[in-house]
Amino acid sequence: MEKKKLYIGGNWVEANDYYDLRSPFSQEVVAQVPLADKNHVEEAIRAASENTGIIKNMPAHERADILLRVSTLLEENMEEAARILTLENAKPIKAARLEIGRTAQTYRFAAEEAKQLYGETIPMDAAKGAEDKFGFTIREPLGVIAAITPFNFPFNLAAHKLGPAIAAGNSIVLKPASQTPLSAFYIAELFERAGLPKGVLNVVTGSGGVIGDLLVTDDRVKMVTFTGSLEVGKRVKELAGLKRVTLELGSNAPVIIDNVKDLDRAVTKCVQGSFAYSGQICISVQRIYVHEDIFDTFLEKFSRGAQSLVIGDPEDESTDISALIHQKEITRVKTWIEEAENKGATKILGGELYNNTTITPTILTNVPSDSSLCTLEAFAPIVYVNKFNNINAAIKEANNSQFGLQAGIFTDSIQTALKAVRELESGGINVNDVPTFRVDHMPYGGVKNSGIGKEGIKYSTEEMTEVKFVSFTS
Ligand code: NAP
Repeated sequence: MEKKKLYIGGNWVEANDYYDLRSPFSQEVVAQVPLADKNHVEEAIRAASENTGIIKNMPAHERADILLRVSTLLEENMEEAARILTLENAKPIKAARLEIGRTAQTYRFAAEEAKQLYGETIPMDAAKGAEDKFGFTIREPLGVIAAITPFNFPFNLAAHKLGPAIAAGNSIVLKPASQTPLSAFYIAELFERAGLPKGVLNVVTGSGGVIGDLLVTDDRVKMVTFTGSLEVGKRVKELAGLKRVTLELGSNAPVIIDNVKDLDRAVTKCVQGSFAYSGQICISVQRIYVHEDIFDTFLEKFSRGAQSLVIGDPEDESTDISALIHQKEITRVKTWIEEAENKGATKILGGELYNNTTITPTILTNVPSDSSLCTLEAFAPIVYVNKFNNINAAIKEANNSQFGLQAGIFTDSIQTALKAVRELESGGINVNDVPTFRVDHMPYGGVKNSGIGKEGIKYSTEEMTEVKFVSFTS
């Protein structure tokens, strides 16, 4: 079994303490992972801080080349990277390969963005008294960025932070989720091979509470880019003071199914959007509102689709659904199902334990709006399907949430689509698709309690820069 090391200042460093990393599916110990202490975090910040100049002053084409090399290395080592992912977070292997492919593309987008950090000219003579001036802006890196990532897309969500940070000329301290440190070490190795100067990227692993607080409160850190839960996001925001903060948080994404002709398309996409990676996706479909005229047919087809999913070992090629990240999530989900049923909901499918590590795809209906399944984020293979009789009611229900990350609507009416686009309270609206659809260059980020700021490579690269204004007097 491998004993991993921290990556600080371009060196692989042993820690004083380690923890056992267990596969969520087999529960076997798969690696020993260093628990960074206060001194390690201090060293990592110092290394990042001392090397801000080297990455800031590196020409954009060289930064782009490094990012491109990482992308190519990932493509060349797709299978190895996918196996690491499957081992640490139980993502079924076929989905793991998709994530690695996406991650390679994300770094490619970042390489392109490194060369497109434009400023603008300001028409100074628009102001009386400034006729003799010529004004323009340049974008400068912020310096040290702390990147804190969750367990569910450990390669691609780290890429959404490392890619733009390096594209913009920043140095980084990365703190991955405790359950998914292997992907972070792996990507650090690829950056090393790709020629990233020492100290520009540092990886510290261990307790989020300890490392997170140290990173978030350190004055040398100029920005915290955080993806994770609402609870931790709130804490990060409270502690960050005047630092720039990006928060990519959770949701309980809704989709509205109007009285559409092509119901099968909506059903197929809803099955995928509700149960992919066991629902552990921030834009997983959790709430489905279906027009009364097609409700029964939808429910029947949707249940059949969910039943056809293969539950099993994440390393099996046929597996669609595997273990939840921690067993405690099963207890929580079971409690939520019981609570909804006690309040009048009907269970249509699932809710059974599998291998002691997951719960079978679960569908409920008539779920009341005050149940946890309506108000909180499930992050599990559980979804409800409720009926509506007019679009205003459906939009109202969809908006009845503390979250607003992405929403979807299937409709054959352009008027209904545009009404939904205008009225749904959400960072992104997918018309004729599930909220779960995302590609990595589009702007992405929530409203309400789903977060602050936008990711999507162009947008996060800009957020990781400071606009400097220059005025020339002739
Ligand atoms: P989490 O428990 O909030 O953890 C996220 C990260 O924060 C981990 O690295 C964690 O470290 C760290 N952390 C824990 N306590 C901290 C503290 N006090 N200060 C700073 N960092 C701390 O989330 P998760 O369970 O890994 O991921 C699931 C959540 O992420 C869901 O809510 C999901 O919706 C959200 N998510 C959002 C997006 C998006 O783009 N909007 C994408 C993916 C996931 P430890 O693991 O060591 O505790």
